[in-house]
Amino acid sequence: MNLANQIVLLTGASRGIGVAIARDLGKAGAHVVLTARDLAGLERVAAEVRVAGGKATVVAADVSTAEGRATIVTALDAVGPVLAFVSNAGLEVPTAVHEQTHAQIEKQIAVNLTGPILLTRALLPGMIARGKGAIALVSSMSGKSPTPFNAIYSATKHGLNGFASSLRIELDGTGVHAGVVCPSFVAEAGMWHDTGLAAPGMMREVPLAKVVAAVRAVLGGKGEVLVTPSPVRPLLALAQLIPGLDGPVLRALGVMTTLKSRARTTIEKGASE
Ligand code: NAP
Repeated sequence: MNLANQIVLLTGASRGIGVAIARDLGKAGAHVVLTARDLAGLERVAAEVRVAGGKATVVAADVSTAEGRATIVTALDAVGPVLAFVSNAGLEVPTAVHEQTHAQIEKQIAVNLTGPILLTRALLPGMIARGKGAIALVSSMSGKSPTPFNAIYSATKHGLNGFASSLRIELDGTGVHAGVVCPSFVAEAGMWHDTGLAAPGMMREVPLAKVVAAVRAVLGGKGEVLVTPSPVRPLLALAQLIPGLDGPVLRALGVMTTLKSRARTTIEKGASE
């Protein structure tokens, strides 16, 4: 998809993976509408987008609230028609379900699922009327596989995948496309990198550039891109065929041990949201 001089909405643009996506959109010559809550972070990323060759507009807003989403939609009305939407904002509270507060659970659902769905809902009428548009929803391998000690996050990402695949088919013939990017543990930036932990035993981190390329691939028409160190589709298919296999597989890969110890650390440090 040619993004030169086209308007692209990017959420989660203040830090982490969003910065790399923003730079890439800037390099493509897009006018990127960058949103997140941290205005100073957004301004820094906007400067990078401009250096890369794009235009940038910043909108400080909380994607999890109706007020925040209204702020984003109003800002977009002033900028012009949106060709592409990259839904990248995300939140995890990686602890056991019984250790999460009601507020933490509600917030993860609102940031990871309600926000992306309602922003998509707001953008679709214009895209459908113009007969062109693309929506890339940044999900996770947690949307494809169980993720113990991060079950709420996993539930939201499974929801996002269901939303994206249903929407993709629903939009057939409209000229508007929707798809998901599902990374595993991402290196160099983002919520996993910030933990300072190493990816579990048999897994490795995936390069940030691969996530950025996957976003572009979805904007270009792919329905689902898994960004993992090795092909996992056969394992996922096997787990569908043999319910109960997923637990032993996660244990064998060393994922259980790592996620359990991260949950302990998160509780000791105290989750911020
Ligand atoms: P991150 O470094 O924690 O950044 C999260 C971004 O989301 C920030 O820009 C943050 O901005 C924004 N955000 C969080 N809550 C928000 C809210 N209430 N309203 C508006 N914006 C909000 O995380 P990341 O790793 O870059 O994650 C980006 C996406 O990749 C997420 O969807 C995540 O689930 C997914 N993912 C990440 C990994 C990984 O290994 N890092 C793996 C798989 C999937 P403010 O705090 O300024 O609002």
